[in-house]
Amino acid sequence: MTTTLITRIGELTTNVAVDGDACGTRHDAAVLIDGERIVWVGDAADAPHADEIVDAAGRAVIPGFVDSHSHLVFAGDRAAEFEARMAGQKYAAGGIRSTVAATRSASDDELRSRLRGFLDEMLAQGTTTVEIKSGYGLSVVDEERLVRLAAEVTSEVTFLGAHVVPAEYTDRADEYVDLVTGPMLDACAPYAKWIDVFCETGAFTVEQSRRVLQAGIARGLAARVHASQLGPGEGVRLAVELGAASIDHGTYLTDDDVAALAASDTVLTLLPGVEFSTRQPYPDARRLIDAGVTVALACDTNPGSSFTSSMPFCIAIAVRDMGMTPGEAVWAATAGGARALRRDDIGVIAPGARADLVLLKAATRVHLAYRPGVPLVARVWKDGLVVA
Ligand SMILES: [Zn+2]
Repeated sequence: MTTTLITRIGELTTNVAVDGDACGTRHDAAVLIDGERIVWVGDAADAPHADEIVDAAGRAVIPGFVDSHSHLVFAGDRAAEFEARMAGQKYAAGGIRSTVAATRSASDDELRSRLRGFLDEMLAQGTTTVEIKSGYGLSVVDEERLVRLAAEVTSEVTFLGAHVVPAEYTDRADEYVDLVTGPMLDACAPYAKWIDVFCETGAFTVEQSRRVLQAGIARGLAARVHASQLGPGEGVRLAVELGAASIDHGTYLTDDDVAALAASDTVLTLLPGVEFSTRQPYPDARRLIDAGVTVALACDTNPGSSFTSSMPFCIAIAVRDMGMTPGEAVWAATAGGARALRRDDIGVIAPGARADLVLLKAATRVHLAYRPGVPLVARVWKDGLVVA
C-alpha cells in the first residue's frame, strides 16, 4: 500500500482534545496516511518517510465534514415555494407532499443520478461522510426504493417513513403509523441503520413518534428524531428517554429540554440552513454549548426547507448568528457529526481513524466563517484517496 505524507500543515485541526482545546490544534504539523487509514500525526520536523509527499505550504487541514442529516433521494424542486416564502409566505411541513408526488413518479435511475450529483457536490465542498434519509416515498414500495438507493452510496441510511402523513392517509394518521411500523419497516430495515420520525405539529404526535421509534429499535435500528423545528414540543424528551443518538433541528427548546440534553448522550444537531431558508430565528448555540449540550452542525439538504449542501455555509451562519466560535463550529461539523452518528473512526485526525481530510486554501479554519461563500477547499481525501 502507498503511504502519503501531508506535511508543512500550518494549522491542523485534529479534534483530539488537549489542554482545553477541543479542536486539538497543532501547528507546523504533518499527517501520514497508509491505505485508507491515518497512521501517524505529529510535528512536520519529525515526519517519517513516505512514498508520496504533499506540501501543504502552511495551509490548514481539517477532518472531512460529517454531514449527519440529509434528504438526498428525491425528484423535482420547490424553487417556486422558496420564492413565495421569501415574499412572505410561512413554511409548513405539508410542502413535503409535493416532493413525494415527484419522487414517486421518478425512475430509480433518475433518483440515482440526482443522488450521485449531490454526493459529488458535497465531496467538492469537503463532506466525506453523509447520512441520507428516506421520507419522500411514504408507501412501502417507494420507501424501500429510497433506502435501497441510499444504501448504494452510504452506510448511514435512515428510514424516515414517518416524515409526514401522505395525502391518501389524511385524517387517518394512526393507520399510517400502523403501515410505517409494520410492512414498511419490514421492507426498509434491511437497508437502514437508523429510524427517524418528524415529531412536530402538522407531522406526528409524541405518542405516534414513540410507536415509530420503538418499532425501529425493536428491529435493531437506532433512533434519531426531527423535533422542535416549528415550535416547542415533547420530541426532545422522547429522544432522550429512548436514547436517540441525535435530536435534529431544536430551534425552539425549553430550559428543561436543554437540561435533559446536557445530562444525556443525545447530540443536538443544528441545521442553520433551515432557519436561513425559512426565515425562522436561529437557535442560540451559545446557550446550548454553555449548558454542556453536545452540538453537531449539518446541512439538512432537502428541496423544501434547506437546499444547501455546503457545510462551510452552515459554519459561517453558526459563527455569525448562533454564537459559536469558529473552532466550535468546525468541531460541530466534523467531530459533532461523528458523535451524532455514533462513529469514532471519522471526524478526527488521529492514528487509526479513516483518512478523510480536507486541505483548505487558507492558513486557518477561521476562514471558513470569515470568507463565507468562497470555495476554500484545495483538496479532499476520502478513505485515503484524493476525491476532489
Ligand atoms: Zn430533515
